[in-house]
Amino acid sequence: MALAALPVHADAAKIGANRLVEPSLHLQEHQGGPPRVALTLDACSGKVDHRILDMLLKERIPATIFVTARWLKRNAEAVAVLRAHPDLFELEDHGREHLAAIDRVASVYGVKSAGSPEALALEVGGGAEAMIAAGLDKPRWFRGATAKYSPSAIALIESMGYRIAGYSLNGDGGSLLGAKATERRIAGAKDGDVIIAHVNQPTHAAGEGVAAGILGLRKRGFEFVLLRDAAEPAVQSLHSSALGK
Ligand SMILES: [Zn+2]
Repeated sequence: MALAALPVHADAAKIGANRLVEPSLHLQEHQGGPPRVALTLDACSGKVDHRILDMLLKERIPATIFVTARWLKRNAEAVAVLRAHPDLFELEDHGREHLAAIDRVASVYGVKSAGSPEALALEVGGGAEAMIAAGLDKPRWFRGATAKYSPSAIALIESMGYRIAGYSLNGDGGSLLGAKATERRIAGAKDGDVIIAHVNQPTHAAGEGVAAGILGLRKRGFEFVLLRDAAEPAVQSLHSSALGK
């Protein structure tokens, strides 16, 4: 199937060490058939947004959910629901403590970085260990908090055997957008988009828009694919920005 991600560390290494990179990810082009998107939802910490989860179950819409060890610990009931529907939900690694995947001291959007290569390895590996301890499959994809990385962090994460899960459409602006703005963004997805949004903020207006936007795509005939179904190399590109202090 049509998702693709080549290792990005070689490209990332060309970007200065003082920059942050934000890999983008999208599905490969395909001939014929309905338009396709991959829905990826982050469960950073906090709780579960049943406006989204219950709708996915009811409509049988597949989603790849990035979970942290913190979220797993606090949401055992939702984890049991996700585990009970392995055909719909793929769970992947969003880290242990929800630290930004930067192997030096920094902060991004107020989120602290791992701070060293050792701490980054613990963030990535600790997230995976918590998943296995919760009875989930060993993850193959990693997405760091904030989805920004230092070039050397990307190399380290890929050397640990993970693919970096970028995205191409920011659906909910970090769950901070209003319901209508979120719905419009998601409903505006194009064939091949990898959508990122959040499933851990039940009190935010954005979640209502996530559910509505996804339903809108389904009504227009979009198909939803999981990251694990990607068999072919995918297309990625890297955006870079200055490293925060
Ligand atoms: Zn997150």
